[in-house]
Amino acid sequence: MNKKIKKTYKLAEYLFPEIDNYCKNCNTCCNTYGWLIDNEVDDFLDKKYSVFQINKTLHCLDSFVRDKSNKIIINKIPKCLFYKKNRCLIYSNRPLDCRLYPIKIKFKKNKIIVGLSLGCKYVSSLSEKEKVYLCARAIVFLKKAPQEIINNYLNIMKNVNSISDPKNFQIKNIVELKEQNGRWKILE
Ligand code: SF4
Ligand code: SF4
Repeated sequence: MNKKIKKTYKLAEYLFPEIDNYCKNCNTCCNTYGWLIDNEVDDFLDKKYSVFQINKTLHCLDSFVRDKSNKIIINKIPKCLFYKKNRCLIYSNRPLDCRLYPIKIKFKKNKIIVGLSLGCKYVSSLSEKEKVYLCARAIVFLKKAPQEIINNYLNIMKNVNSISDPKNFQIKNIVELKEQNGRWKILE
């Protein structure tokens, strides 16, 4: 596995202490396409996981339901193929996008808003003070993680946003970023 992605996974472990207790029997965030960043695609293919390519640029876990003639039914967001018996079967290998949830991204003109998803059970269990600490940890994560990985992740999310229907989800804003010369910079 690429060293930079490994470092990013390690840093992400400190974002949500004890979240596992809340994730048991909760699949709210596993009804998803399971987006992969560029550095993850080969790792997932090497592990023989099913990966689906969209528009030659986006990759996700292939959780799509097929009809009898093997045509994909894409009229609803699939439940991740790795969510079985109320748990993630590849938890220690799950993609960065899964590791970062309940951090969610919203797009506003040429800006990105990074926020905390208020639909997550773990987030709802936190006091306002704990949410503030979590937001501070998220900013540290965005600054410390390899910028190549963060940029790639945010660009993938931008592409996903461009092909998705607008979703109305509630977030607590953490920080805004703006694209400058192909890089996403935190607006201080
Ligand atoms: S919604 Fe929150 S609590 Fe539920 S599985 Fe996802 S991260 Fe865990
Ligand atoms: S890989 Fe695991 S955590 Fe990610 S969506 Fe699938 S089941 Fe959920």
